[in-house]
Amino acid sequence: LRALRLGGFLALTATDTATLCGVNPKACLRRYGAKPLKTEYCHELAVRILIGAAVRLAARRDLALKPLFTHATDHYVRVYLQMVRGAKRADEALSRLGYLYHCPNCLARQPLEGLLPHTPPKCGECGFPMEAAGPLWLGGLWHPEIVEAMLVELSKAEVGRFREASNLLSKVKLEMNVESVGYYTVDRLAEVYHRTPLSPSRLAEALSGEGFKASPTHFNPQGVRTEAPISVVKKIFLQGLKC
Ligand SMILES: [Zn+2]
Repeated sequence: LRALRLGGFLALTATDTATLCGVNPKACLRRYGAKPLKTEYCHELAVRILIGAAVRLAARRDLALKPLFTHATDHYVRVYLQMVRGAKRADEALSRLGYLYHCPNCLARQPLEGLLPHTPPKCGECGFPMEAAGPLWLGGLWHPEIVEAMLVELSKAEVGRFREASNLLSKVKLEMNVESVGYYTVDRLAEVYHRTPLSPSRLAEALSGEGFKASPTHFNPQGVRTEAPISVVKKIFLQGLKC
């Protein structure tokens, strides 16, 4: 961090995705000071735990980190952060840390900001005790201007693995506008609600029809990111889609 210029960028890569995804919770606690949670959206939680650890580390030196771009594959997670100086900005960055509570019974999620311990809430939907992940970053994962600039660069440059990069960016461009921590996967919904899975695009379409933002996610081809509460997702899923 000391080597970074002000306004400079920091690219962090973690290759221990399994650890961050909750395969070995004790190792995650040792390395990142956070409790992971094995869920269908653990790759996103992995990125958020990594950012959370970096933000806390930077705050000790009165530095603030802000994520500009984030992505994950099966093998690693990577995040690009911008650094700015100032205790107040570091405080602001810290204020975006907190916990994500997950209901293993109905798949509801509830983010709670703050680093002080909360009493784990009961699920607002089904009353089941929720499970915690964190502390982790609850704020945005992408800076829209950076993503747009990357798309422009990609269109004029000869980039190796062009199709892969273009796929990633086009998905990120859609999901960066949907404010949610975590996403749903159609296979996990099918498992919990005993239905045959809908296609992710059909589910996203139906959610938009109900007036909620919804998009695919680069984290998982089966995933749908949405601002809709689980009650709406469940209703659509149980109805199945006609035609
Ligand atoms: Zn629940």
